[in-house]
Amino acid sequence: MPDVHAKLSASGSSRWLNCTPSISLEAKFPEQEGGGIFAREGTLAHSFGELILQRFNREIDKAKYIRKLNLLKKHELYDETMIDHVEVYTTVVIEKFQAAHAADPDAVLSIEQRLDYSGWARGGFGTGDAVIVGNGVVEIVDLKYGKGVPVFAEENSQLMLYGLGAYNAFELGYDLHTVKMTIVQPRLDSITEFEMEVSDLLDWADNVVRPAALLADKGEGEQVPGSWCTFCKAKAICKARAEANLAFTTYNFKDPRLMQPEEIGAVLKQAAELGKWADDVKKFALKEAEAKGIKFPGWKLVEGKSNRKYVDEETVLGALELEGYSEDDLMNKKLKGLGDLEKMVGKKRVVMILGDLIVKPPGRPTLAVESDKRREISLKSAAADDFADDLEN
Ligand code: SF4
Repeated sequence: MPDVHAKLSASGSSRWLNCTPSISLEAKFPEQEGGGIFAREGTLAHSFGELILQRFNREIDKAKYIRKLNLLKKHELYDETMIDHVEVYTTVVIEKFQAAHAADPDAVLSIEQRLDYSGWARGGFGTGDAVIVGNGVVEIVDLKYGKGVPVFAEENSQLMLYGLGAYNAFELGYDLHTVKMTIVQPRLDSITEFEMEVSDLLDWADNVVRPAALLADKGEGEQVPGSWCTFCKAKAICKARAEANLAFTTYNFKDPRLMQPEEIGAVLKQAAELGKWADDVKKFALKEAEAKGIKFPGWKLVEGKSNRKYVDEETVLGALELEGYSEDDLMNKKLKGLGDLEKMVGKKRVVMILGDLIVKPPGRPTLAVESDKRREISLKSAAADDFADDLEN
């Protein structure tokens, strides 16, 4: 699977279709190097899927298949359940292809097909995991290996853009009238499907995708917050998202003294979003303070809490046994925690016996209010100007 992304990407389309300036705002934030662990795990799962389908499609011989399979299994992120999950996806693809082939002997299965929708969004393309064409229908089957966020096929703009790219790729050879889209998310036991007539898809492409893409490409339009903010790199400091969250503070309560049930319902709904937003802002501020020495008025970087731990459990066990304690006293499957030992042996005596065998590692830096008693720490010389420069340019 090529590791390249279009600016107007299909995977990021819910953002740029709904919030057209998001692409230019996201460009101010660094790319995560090499992708996170979940992205790399997803890439590995897709490689297994591609290989299994290449073998089914007779694109590679058995020897090459086994060689590649064994190589993939050596990957540090491979675990035995991965192939079982991927096979849920490949089985769906194979069954759909067999059904298409039964109805139309000219049906084809294309794996990791580049799907170009640049006719509607400049430079837009994506990669379809599996594309089946036959009997007037083009069908996209997409593997989502993640299990953190459920993804559904219905009106999913990523899949609709893939459908557009697939229509674009195959319209000449096939008399296409329907686009079908399927998302297989095996680790959530989820398979969802959606279909559109080609005419409706083209209508959406002309009237929704093209105008939004023109604005997004130029970084113009209105910032519109919504569920699509979740994966936006600007989400922690986006003012539109902040304003949407803070707007709730002006909620017009019916009774000035006590909230009504429907108002409590509204607060609970908003509280979830407020919590996510506050968490994003906190993580962003901590990262900036740690990495760049940025100071946020009213806040300082301090050493967080840390727990005491044994330097070496075997040596601790030996030291206590010499003092007459038995393994049964000291073990609870593994060596008991320090708190339990202190209760049994006494705090002072634990220090006397174990001394340097107990250490307190430095806590992870955290942000605290200025009045906090802990001493301010500095991990990097202040570069506050970088903050303004990086984000305003
Ligand atoms: S956080 Fe949301 S509103 Fe703000 S730029 Fe990103 S997508 Fe748009």
